[in-house]
Order: sequence, then C-alpha cells, then structure tokens
Amino acid sequence: MIQERILLVEDNKALSKLIKRKMQDNLNFDIIQSYTLEETSNILEDNDDFFVALLDLNLPDAPNGEIVDLVLSYDIASIILTGSIDEQTRDDMLKKGIIDYVYKGNMEDINYIFSLIQRLLKNRDTKVMVVDSSQATRRYLKEILIRHMFKVLVAAHGEEALNYLEDNKDIKLILTDYNMPVIDGLELTKRVREHYSKQQLPIISLTNNNEHLISAKFLKFGVNDFINKPFSNEELIYRINNTLESIEQIELLSRFANYDFVTNLHNRRYFFDNIDDFLNSNDHYAIAMLDIDHFKKINDTYGHDVGDMVLKHLSTILKNNTKGSDLVARFGGEEFCIALANIDEKTAIRFFIKLKNLISNEEVKFKNYTIKYSVSIGVVSKDEKECIEKLIQKADKALYKAKRGGRDRVEIY
Ligand code: GH3
Ligand code: MG
Ligand code: MG
Repeated sequence: MIQERILLVEDNKALSKLIKRKMQDNLNFDIIQSYTLEETSNILEDNDDFFVALLDLNLPDAPNGEIVDLVLSYDIASIILTGSIDEQTRDDMLKKGIIDYVYKGNMEDINYIFSLIQRLLKNRDTKVMVVDSSQATRRYLKEILIRHMFKVLVAAHGEEALNYLEDNKDIKLILTDYNMPVIDGLELTKRVREHYSKQQLPIISLTNNNEHLISAKFLKFGVNDFINKPFSNEELIYRINNTLESIEQIELLSRFANYDFVTNLHNRRYFFDNIDDFLNSNDHYAIAMLDIDHFKKINDTYGHDVGDMVLKHLSTILKNNTKGSDLVARFGGEEFCIALANIDEKTAIRFFIKLKNLISNEEVKFKNYTIKYSVSIGVVSKDEKECIEKLIQKADKALYKAKRGGRDRVEIY
C-alpha cells in the first residue's frame, strides 16, 4: 500500500522537526517538510498528492500567507499554523476554504493538529445526508462538508431523504432543514426516529433564528442538536464533530460493556443478554463449555503474555469456525461458551470433535518456541426448551467428565 503523505510547510526548523516527530508517533503518514514557498511550489509540481497540508502563514519568501493560495490552488485540504491571528485574517482564510487554523503557541495546540487529522480520517468514512429545500443552502453545506472530507448526499425534501435512507444504510448523520415541501423536517425526524435511535442515526436540525419554538419541537422529536441559521462554517463543523464524537464515545462504552478486551470475543454479559433470544429463535441448538487444558502450565512456562497469545489464537479459531447466528463468548479465564444455532445433536458432536482436533493440531509460534495446546469440551444439545442456567450446568458437568477422562476430548451430557 502506498503511504499517504502530509505536507508540512514551516520555516522554523526546530518546530517543524518537533511536529514531524510527534506526527510520526501519532499517525501513519509520510511527512514531507518544506521551508519556503519556492520549495513548496517545486514539491507540488512534482507530486501534489497530499492528504492534508499544514501551512505557516509567515515564510521568508511569503510573509503574508501567500502559501495558502498556492496550496489551495492544488485542491489540498489545508490547516493553517499561526503564531497569532486577527479576526480579519481568520475570516479571510476561512473564506478561502481552509479546514481550520491551529495556534503553534504550546504543545496542547500542536496536539490539536492530531485530533483534527484523526477526525478528517474518520470523516472520509462518514456519509452525511443534507436535507434542505434551498438549492443554495444545499450547495453551501455540501461544499463545507466535502472540504472536511465527508461523503455527502443531498435531498431537497423529507420524502426524498427517506428514499435515500432506504438505499443508503451507511448514512451516519442527517442535517435537516425545517420548511420543506411534501415532508418537512419535523415529520422527517419523526419518521427516522421510528426506525433509528439518536445513537444509531444522529440528526442535526437547521432552523431560522426566529424559530425558537421549532428548535424546541425538533429536540422533542429526537434531534441530537440544532443550529440556528445563519451559522458560520466553524460552528457547523464543531457541532457536527461534537455530535459524532459523543456517538463514538457511547459506542466505545458499549464495546467495553459487551466485549472481552484480550480476545475481542463477546463477554459473559453479552452472552446472557442475548441468549434468551437465541434459545427462542432456535428449535435445535447445542451449548458447549470449552476450557483450555493445563493453561496454567503455559503461563508458568512461557509467561502471561504468551498465555494471552494462546487465548487470542483460540478465539480466532472459534470465530472462524462459527456462524453469525451462533453465540461465542469468553466467560472468563480460559473458559469459553459456544452456542450453535439450528443444529441437531449428532451434527453438533461431530462439529465439536472436529473443532477440538483442529485446535490440538495448531501451533502457536513464539520466539524459538512452538507451543501446542489442547481443549476439553462439554456439550449439551436439546430440542426442548430449557433455561440457560440449567443448560450451562449440564455442559459444565460434561466438561468436568472430559477433564477427568484425560482432557483433549469432547463429552456430551
Ligand atoms: P485444566 O486443564 O484443569 O483446565 O487446568 P488449567 O491449568 O487450565 O486450569 P486452572 O484453572 O488451574 O488455571 C487456569 C489459569 O488461567 C490460571 C490463571 O492464571 C490463568 N488465566 C486466567 N485468565 C487469564 C488471562 O486473561 N491471561 C492469561 N495469560 N492467563 C489467565
Ligand atoms: Mg483449563
Ligand atoms: Mg479453567
């Protein structure tokens, strides 16, 4: 894969070096440094493929921000680095189409560059739908969003938006106007919320300054935020970022709550939250408890980190050999639970024996060592309904029998 590049134009060599070093620590980009306008011009003539450019407004051969016009003429997303910026310059620069400006005063401001670039990287995978009856507003919003690297879809009224939503399941955010023909913004919000929660599909409404009551109604109908028209580019982008970031935070929390850190498998909690639906929707199923044999010895011999490697290795096997309709979870330690959907007892036993053999034939390589391990599996397969606690108890009994019988084996309850 070709490494993407970032252009860094800054004549203060110490600062340029510092930013470059921090960038390499934080981001996976090639950093191309330049110190003057002329040098930049040569670089761009040669190859103008940059993800983003960081530009110092004051260069030895370009003291008044001339660098911005040059780089923007190549259509490169530009972030301004500045020691100080007055309102007028700031407005001029934003009007020219820069992404943002960053003070290079202290480390915190420098760190802001990284969060900005990370945001832009995420934006590239974020599809936003703009719904507005005014063509001029649609065009204006689209331009700003595209500058910030979002994928953009535009609709002229609510009905069109609902149609687009049917065909574009990857829409991550809706910006909607209020006054629109056919289906207005409030009705659109109401309809979207019948299918998607605020967490699943955020909506930001755009209302006129004199429509405070409408904004309140929008909130009541479930928008995540609202923006009063007229608004600045900056306000729009910051509100969008705030909304997306809070969604990401909640997603992260829910990941922590439902997944196991070490193996990336679901955890016990997720398993119990979802097993009732699983049992209700499957007439035939099998539940198995699986435990690594003599795992303590692996830890004692090679260390805890290698133990973790083995856990990850096993988890990948479990993931690759089960279907989306099955439930696989790490219950704790080196103990896993596997629920197979829609399977009879005979097929289930055959599956688990094959799985066990597959595992004992695998090798985990570490330094000069080749580690082999085995698992014991206890299976219960039932056609009639039984509560999960009972089923796990039975699978556990079968597992105990497998251990007592010499390990590296499958037992059925
Ligand atoms: P048996 O064949 O009877 O199952 O023996 P065993 O050694 O596998 O079982 P035992 O229950 O005696 O030991 C389990 C070990 O697993 C003890 C514990 O330190 C280790 N363990 C639990 N969680 C983790 C983990 O997340 N990472 C690592 N590396 N080890 C863990
Ligand atoms: Mg064990
Ligand atoms: Mg154990």
